[in-house]
Amino acid sequence: MAGRFAPSPSGPLHFGSLIAAVGSYLIAKSRNTQWLVRIEDIDPPREVQGASDIILRQLEAFGLHWDSSVLYQSQRLDRYNEIIEELKSRDLVYACNCTRKKIKARNGNGYYPNICAAKNLSFNGDVAIRLRHGHDDYHFVDKIQGSCQFDDSLYNEDFTIRRKDGLIAYQLAVVADDIEQGIDHVVRGCDLLDSTPRQLRLYEVLSAKAPDWYHLPLAINPDGNKLSKQNHAPAIDSQQASKLLCHALEFLGQPVALELRQELPVAIMDYALSQFRLDQIPASQQILYLD
Ligand code: GLU
Repeated sequence: MAGRFAPSPSGPLHFGSLIAAVGSYLIAKSRNTQWLVRIEDIDPPREVQGASDIILRQLEAFGLHWDSSVLYQSQRLDRYNEIIEELKSRDLVYACNCTRKKIKARNGNGYYPNICAAKNLSFNGDVAIRLRHGHDDYHFVDKIQGSCQFDDSLYNEDFTIRRKDGLIAYQLAVVADDIEQGIDHVVRGCDLLDSTPRQLRLYEVLSAKAPDWYHLPLAINPDGNKLSKQNHAPAIDSQQASKLLCHALEFLGQPVALELRQELPVAIMDYALSQFRLDQIPASQQILYLD
């Protein structure tokens, strides 16, 4: 059994990703499981050279030491393709040659209205591969956010598991790895809350037990945007690790006693773990963060 932190190497960690790292670490350790790190490097166009190593060095500097070896998704492509072949043989997937523009024209809300489901297009060539949807009730109870219900159009969309450009989609890679790494609880930001019904569909077709879900509040800036690499959130400064860790812990409802705030990051994390209370993590999807 394990928990994990799964950054994409599109840049160094920023405060938003530090929250996910700290939250997933504390929850894994409080459940007495391993905490694994997985680098989600399956989208080369979005990858920044050297970012994976920088992320790992940042985690170490912040006292976040992982168990077992780091898994790189780029080394798992054969496995993902094997799963796609299996889903093909069970007729659970189909090829789709629709453009984004066409989908938008057919369905204003941007969800795919399953246009190619009955066309039986060839898998060769420039096509995406979509997974046929299951039932329409992937309601789940999140351990932080409580009961989560989504728009029906999300459940009924046959979503992409391999993109038109041949890249494996996040949804497939994340679930394949979570299953094979024995991840029994997933901790991440609320920006991925609406990916969860899709991932539940994948657990279903892969006959695996779904993990417990913990979606942490997102740090947003005064413009209402989440702190992200796309929004140019600054990299966390390892020279200020203790201070930033205390901010992240406070954000997660786990304040550090004043006299301990100058301690080394490892000591701060040990203290935070000894005091950890899941019910103190705010059950909000977003929280304004002013540094
Ligand atoms: N790689 C994803 C990200 O950096 C996180 C995936 C997950 O935690 O499920 O946003």
